Amino acid sequence: MSKTYDLILRGATVIDGTRAPRFEADVAVEGDRIARVGSLPGARGKIEIDAKGKIVSPGFIDAHTHDDRLMLSAPEMAPKVSQGVTTVVAGNCGVSLAPLSLGSRAVPSPLDLMGDASWFRFPSFSSYVAELEKDPAATNCALLVGHTTLRIATMANVDRPASPAEISKMGSLVSEALDAGAIGCSTGLYYEPARAAPTEEVIEVCRPLSPRKALYCTHMRDEGDRVLDSLEETFRIGRELDVPVVVSHHKVVGTPNHGRSRETLPLIAERMASQSIGLDCYPYCASSTILTADRAALATRTLVTWSTPHPEFAGMELSAVANKMGLSEAEAATKLRPAGGIYFMMDEADVQRVLAFEHTMIGSDGLPHDAAPHPRLWGTFARVLGHYARGLGLFPLETAVYKMTGLPAKTFGLAGRGVVKEGAHADLCVFDAGLVDEAATFAKPIQAAKGIEAVIVNGTLVWRGGKASGARPGKVLRRTL
Ligand SMILES: [Zn+2]
Repeated sequence: MSKTYDLILRGATVIDGTRAPRFEADVAVEGDRIARVGSLPGARGKIEIDAKGKIVSPGFIDAHTHDDRLMLSAPEMAPKVSQGVTTVVAGNCGVSLAPLSLGSRAVPSPLDLMGDASWFRFPSFSSYVAELEKDPAATNCALLVGHTTLRIATMANVDRPASPAEISKMGSLVSEALDAGAIGCSTGLYYEPARAAPTEEVIEVCRPLSPRKALYCTHMRDEGDRVLDSLEETFRIGRELDVPVVVSHHKVVGTPNHGRSRETLPLIAERMASQSIGLDCYPYCASSTILTADRAALATRTLVTWSTPHPEFAGMELSAVANKMGLSEAEAATKLRPAGGIYFMMDEADVQRVLAFEHTMIGSDGLPHDAAPHPRLWGTFARVLGHYARGLGLFPLETAVYKMTGLPAKTFGLAGRGVVKEGAHADLCVFDAGLVDEAATFAKPIQAAKGIEAVIVNGTLVWRGGKASGARPGKVLRRTL
């Protein structure tokens, strides 16, 4: 009797997510698990995919996303599954959809990156998790609760440090989020609604992380002139709470700071000897967030990604918009707000140095609701595999895969994920190593990546033949130590 499995990926070249060298094998899936990895000539699959000449790797873990709402509003998760992503870490940069019920209040920036007030309708973190579990997305998720969201939820005026009563209220919301399944807390100390929060406020709000060894992830206060101070602040928060920290989308911005990854990376490496530190990076030398005149002033070029009062300018250069309006770029940026921008402000050599750093994970930081989004939304993972690993030879393909699978699974505590081995969760990506690359560009950013043949989440095909299957097998993942 030949054994029949639910799915067999036949004749694959397996890159298993551990950085081990690739090997040839059939991969069999039964239910939501990888049942066998080896030569299975006698076995049959209810579904068989010919993976000869293709790579089978663990599904990619997007270490840094703003997909909190995308999982509800476009749950097939096309920008993610089309590039092999099977798990997203959401709630980054201090911005989470929950717990916050805005009612008829306006959405303060940068929360508006996720949509209008109607999306902020979760008075508790558990109500958000319950909705995701009742009506799942195509991908798994691991959730962070955002400090900026907590400030908006508890403070009438965010231009000052929180009072002890507000800190205690935010702390109990952090506890509630962790009980509901959040894996940690994020901050966005760079952004206005959190800028007035001193380090001590962050530490006290995040106290509930300590007994659970939950994560502290941060869009730091300064990624420019004071980037080293910001790293020190991050490390201090991690030490005082005795929890792991993740430095989000690590970069050095502004022309005068180009080259300073030569300072930041050795500092991170040195501190890793005494505390748990992770970092992620997106593979581009342009950033993207809300549009501000200050940030545009630091960039060599700025593109408008969306604008509420002037949607017609999405996708245009800010300089061209300013010309058209007969204003300076700073005045035009102000007139366009609320709005988003893409800022060319990093140095390619820094980007490559950070990407190649042994401990750097890959995170897209994609903004899924922008009218003309940064191409990182649809392109990040394919660009790392294609442009940086195959094209430039920045690292072997095994290393590229590890940065998007085994390493984030370990960092975020996602047990049994990020690896191709018997008994692991069947999150898998089948891709063509010779073809894989981003198709998205700054001019045409909404395009599925090239070379991604099939994507499987918890044993179910979610992407095949260039299309989402419509299946939504995603789970809300808890942190395991
Ligand atoms: Zn950020």
